[in-house]
Amino acid sequence: MKLYFILSVFILAAAFTKAENSISSVSMMYSDTASVCPVTGDPVAGEHIAFRYIDKELKFCNDGCVMAYKKEPAKYSEHLKCMPCNDDDANRELNTTHNGVKYYFCGKGCKGKFEKDPESYLEQFSKQN
Ligand SMILES: [Zn+2]
Ligand SMILES: [Zn+2]
Repeated sequence: MKLYFILSVFILAAAFTKAENSISSVSMMYSDTASVCPVTGDPVAGEHIAFRYIDKELKFCNDGCVMAYKKEPAKYSEHLKCMPCNDDDANRELNTTHNGVKYYFCGKGCKGKFEKDPESYLEQFSKQN
């Protein structure tokens, strides 16, 4: 919230100090680059931390937000992908942690498949866009 406040003040100040015809270009640039941090829900523009979770490229305000997300993605995501079957409706109770990141599965079979070879599944999804 603090960052958002600082950002708003900065944008307001920038808008007021510039000629009227450039105000629209300032806000347009802002909306083009703005993305929302999944953890705090604050707009993330300019400096941010990027982290790819399965098939989604996410932007976070800072390391603290990324850490919180990695620990409990289910808290911040509507849809949880089960990697072995590509289902978007994984079970929150069926999860495993790989390299400090939690992943979810639709069933025990998928969980087992992933645990046998996590890298190949992550590799497969890292190519999707
Ligand atoms: Zn954040
Ligand atoms: Zn599955």
